[in-house]
Amino acid sequence: MDLDLLKDTLAELGEPAYRAGQVWEWTARGAGGYADMTNLPAGLRAQLEERVPFSTLELVDQAESRDGTVKALFHTADGRPVEAVLMRYQDGRRSICVSSQCGCPLTCTFCATGTMAFGRNLTTSEILDQALFFRRIEPIDHCVFMGMGEPMMNIENVLAACEKLPDVGVTNRRTTISTVGWIPGMKQFLAQDRPIRLALSLHAADPELRSRIMPVNDRYPLPDVLELCVKHWRETNRKVFIEYVMLAGVNDHTKHAQQLAAALTPHEAFKVNLIPYNPTGTGYEGSGRTTIGAFRDALQRAGVPATVRLTRGRDIAAACGQLVADRETTSAA
Ligand code: SAH
Repeated sequence: MDLDLLKDTLAELGEPAYRAGQVWEWTARGAGGYADMTNLPAGLRAQLEERVPFSTLELVDQAESRDGTVKALFHTADGRPVEAVLMRYQDGRRSICVSSQCGCPLTCTFCATGTMAFGRNLTTSEILDQALFFRRIEPIDHCVFMGMGEPMMNIENVLAACEKLPDVGVTNRRTTISTVGWIPGMKQFLAQDRPIRLALSLHAADPELRSRIMPVNDRYPLPDVLELCVKHWRETNRKVFIEYVMLAGVNDHTKHAQQLAAALTPHEAFKVNLIPYNPTGTGYEGSGRTTIGAFRDALQRAGVPATVRLTRGRDIAAACGQLVADRETTSAA
């Protein structure tokens, strides 16, 4: 729901200011539409129905994985594709993965989203509407900004969405923003004091290798990015999650683990999450389980805490890096 349009419309209709709060409260709790909002006058509900679309996003396709993961493809009002994912875990956690941009201007060579044309930043309402869509299916309690796009390039809208997410059930402590290391946005993120988690897509500690797979490294070199991460940890005492996608024969050798351990100083500021690579047709292959296990062990021997990420929703192309809304693969399921 376009919250600015809602406010303007209510003002035009001469409604008291508290109406916007009432509408938001219903919406954030998963109401299916204006008709559910029984404490609003019927005439007003009808007006809103006509003048303020209940969502800024139109659902175009929805797929459910064997593991319960749900992927939704939406179109914005100007026809741009946006994808978001709901992950259901056995311990009851319900985590959503949302997009911050339509497409992505960065060109990480292993990521499917990077191959689609960049559209634009999503508005605060478009980000929230992804969460609200899933909230209407069931209660949600975690959110990661790991869908399409680079959240730190759209940090104002991302933070504005984070301000409202607790109403939808997701506290800031259970919210994670992931970045390639886009320094201007990271600085804005560090300047605010919400207890949101920070995750860094690192993928290679060696400068030459990192630049090869993540060209953004030429613009914002890893040491500068890590310096900001350590600053964040010192100021907040919150560890920074390091994402490391395991690419067979590219960045998965023991020497790469050693380079990574050396780059992550002090070790206590970080926690590494190794990501099994999800095939996307970009020419890379994922490292095998044994290699990933050995890499994790090497990190742990070096004193760096590391875990392996559980892969969800691969059968519906909803896994990390598989969101690419302008290809047939997305709507196949
Ligand atoms: N632009 C931000 C937010 C996207 S997060 C960032 O890169 O951090 C998406 C995560 O999935 C990133 O860590 C990305 O590197 C990783 N990823 C991309 N393609 C992948 C793939 N095919 N398999 C597994 N992880 C992938």
